[in-house]
Amino acid sequence: MNHFQLQDGVLHAEEIPLPRLAEEYGTPLFVYSTATLKRHWKVLDRSLAGLKHLVCYAIKANSNLAILRTFAELGSGFDIVSGGELYRVLQAGGKASKVVYSGVGKRDDELAFALEAGVKVLDVESAAELARVSIVARRLGKRAPIALRVNPAVDPKTHPYIATGLKESKFGVSVEDALRLYALAAKDEALEVKGVALHIGSQITEVAPFTEAIARTLGLVKELAKQGIRIGHFDVGGGLGIQYHDEEPPHPDAYGAAVKKALARFDGEVLLEPGRVLVGNAGVLVTRVLYTKRNGRRNFVVVDAAMTDLVRPAFYGAHHEIEPVVPVEDGEEVVADVVGPVCESSDFLGKKRRLPALEPGDLLCVRSAGAYGFAMSSNYNTRARAAEVLVDGDEAFLARRRETLADLVRGESATPRARRFTKAAVRVKSRASRGRRNA
Ligand SMILES: *Cc1c(COP(=O)(O)O)cnc(C)c1O
Repeated sequence: MNHFQLQDGVLHAEEIPLPRLAEEYGTPLFVYSTATLKRHWKVLDRSLAGLKHLVCYAIKANSNLAILRTFAELGSGFDIVSGGELYRVLQAGGKASKVVYSGVGKRDDELAFALEAGVKVLDVESAAELARVSIVARRLGKRAPIALRVNPAVDPKTHPYIATGLKESKFGVSVEDALRLYALAAKDEALEVKGVALHIGSQITEVAPFTEAIARTLGLVKELAKQGIRIGHFDVGGGLGIQYHDEEPPHPDAYGAAVKKALARFDGEVLLEPGRVLVGNAGVLVTRVLYTKRNGRRNFVVVDAAMTDLVRPAFYGAHHEIEPVVPVEDGEEVVADVVGPVCESSDFLGKKRRLPALEPGDLLCVRSAGAYGFAMSSNYNTRARAAEVLVDGDEAFLARRRETLADLVRGESATPRARRFTKAAVRVKSRASRGRRNA
């Protein structure tokens, strides 16, 4: 369920007609629905009722401050993958004590920032990272709360670019390595073992891969208990899929029930890291038709949104529903590719779509654009990034203004102020000393 519906023949965001928002804020425009965001969060939260748990929104799906604030007000935790994301959570009023920090490549400065801020846990993804966390924590005189991200080697049956729990993916550590690393961590004064974490992939449309991954990891938790290492929380990760087109993902209730059942014997806190399922269908991208054209037998609708705004079709061959904001009844229809202005043939939002005969100025609504939409946008072709608006009932608020021409060159310099660098300044480490550091 979402709050982008037809009312009096016009698509609305909650109580506001999309053409009004396009007029006021311009296009391309991301529009988010507060009611949908809140509803999705609460449904997922309730699905684990009776279990000690924390829903940690994975902010990389959509990290706009207004969205983070909306979830923070509901008591949400957050899953982050960079120091930049931690900064965002804090800016939005989120609590560091509810932040889970994941990712295979955390830098020293990011680790230090997270430890100083007091995050709930660092999800460590390799032996080398565990050693690094210990060093940074020691340097700060802190004890680092850690969990190991285990790679349970299950196939989530999703797009290969978003499968993260396969045996040979770059994420996490194997169950065998985890046993060894937990033993090391338990003996390290600078580390405090808090829990275990998983995240097997994204846009998963079946329950089985989740429960299988949980079952495999529970084996590890039991083994650790035998060795006197207590796992206080079990983080099942994110990855629940949504309906873009004809997918039939499990309802969050069914997913929650399955997680609950799989973890019935686990004595501790359960963490979830949902991203897409909370925000995906809570946002749309509104775009205006610039031109229509025909090349050979193919029709094109050229719109003002591009792969720079929504890269998922170009990147994953993803499908997003595209519909006119003001549908025409019984009109003539065409089959057309909906494409953007960027100089790449992969710059399309939809291919072979059945649409009414459109004219320049008409508005189209690209659905399910709330997750990995704006968050993955770029300035390629020196295009300004779109504005983002958050709607709540009959009120709207500009959550991010459209970028200006000045924004597009900020930080650049055309007048050279060269510095001279001498070759002597480079310190070349010997192989032997490099070996020591990584040991
Ligand atoms: C991306 C990510 C998530 C969220 O994934 P969704 O498919 O959007 O739910 C959760 N946890 C981690 C570690 C991630 O990297």
